[in-house]
Amino acid sequence: MSTAQALSPSSRAESLKKLEETELDVLVIGGGVVGAGSALDAATRGLKVGLVEARDFASGTSSRSSKLFHGGLRYLEQFNFALVFEALRERSLVLNSLCPHLAKPVPFIYPLEKLIDRPYVGLGIGVYDVMGAGRGVPSHHKHVGKKKTLESFPSGKRSAIRGSVKFYEGQVDDARHTMMLARTAAEYGALCVNSTRVIGFLREEGRVVGVKAVDLETGRAFEIRARQVINAAGVWTDEIQEMVGGRGQFQVRASKGVHLVVPRNRINSSTGIITRTEKSLLFVIPWGSHWIIGTTDTDWNLDLAHPAA
Ligand SMILES: Cc1cc2nc3c(=O)[nH]c(=O)nc-3n(C[C@H](O)[C@H](O)[C@H](O)COP(=O)(O)OP(=O)(O)OC[C@H]3O[C@@H](n4cnc5c(N)ncnc54)[C@H](O)[C@@H]3O)c2cc1C
Repeated sequence: MSTAQALSPSSRAESLKKLEETELDVLVIGGGVVGAGSALDAATRGLKVGLVEARDFASGTSSRSSKLFHGGLRYLEQFNFALVFEALRERSLVLNSLCPHLAKPVPFIYPLEKLIDRPYVGLGIGVYDVMGAGRGVPSHHKHVGKKKTLESFPSGKRSAIRGSVKFYEGQVDDARHTMMLARTAAEYGALCVNSTRVIGFLREEGRVVGVKAVDLETGRAFEIRARQVINAAGVWTDEIQEMVGGRGQFQVRASKGVHLVVPRNRINSSTGIITRTEKSLLFVIPWGSHWIIGTTDTDWNLDLAHPAA
């Protein structure tokens, strides 16, 4: 059996028709990685599932990430061991079994400016490495001397670098990964449609029993009935929650993350680089013929669909 179905105009039309006619077990709002993943999970449990996305699958944050499957060194610094442990377990699952065709390990170095930093950085990355148990990556972390660091990172400032710690992270094409989740969910019977916006909720005796949606291709409004509705609208979560009436369990604070994308030949390095800024960790990530450098994290109060630097 193949595991991904084409999401074509004809399958969309058919799914829209079925969404209107069927009472679903689960309707998921939002076709980002969370919504597509939820739809796949529910469909593989044999449930009748719908997935509606207002724009296109992965058109939100799920195509604009730093494209790393990582445990989060940043969270380790905050002593959030449970989160790091869970993320590293997920990283190993995606690299080893779930989608080794979409994700791959990528080497990084953490350059050291002062030799005194080596025990602290080495301990942090060492703990990170032990928590990940080396699963899914080619090797454990390594301490590297000045000469070898500069050989792998010739653009590094010779006078500033004393050595480095080398380790691996996972990398993925985020949009492609999300698309594959949606297509695999469709293969398992989920009714997945894009260009379909949820505009309200259906209620009976105080319970949510479905949604009102509009097909943005035709402008036609219709209803979808479902026993459970999952709000996976990412940064739009509060908007959906307001349609139901009031705030939910989670409040989403929109923030903007800026990446600089520069041609690969501007930085001569055979590995990615992680370094510290005043406020956080900075990643220089190899991405095809470019480097992705970032990211920032500041509040954003303007158009959620088009965050701009
Ligand atoms: C700068 C940056 C870098 C990041 N880097 C990483 C990283 O390297 N690794 C990592 O694991 N995570 C990273 N993240 C986090 C990760 O990208 C997000 O957690 C994830 O993409 C969120 O997915 P989502 O499905 O919740 O939201 P989204 O991808 O935003 O999906 C929500 C979807 O809901 C749809 N929607 C909204 N309203 C409606 C409606 N009324 N009807 C129908 N559909 C609707 C939207 O169109 C959208 O497609 C990063 C985040 C940022 C901002």
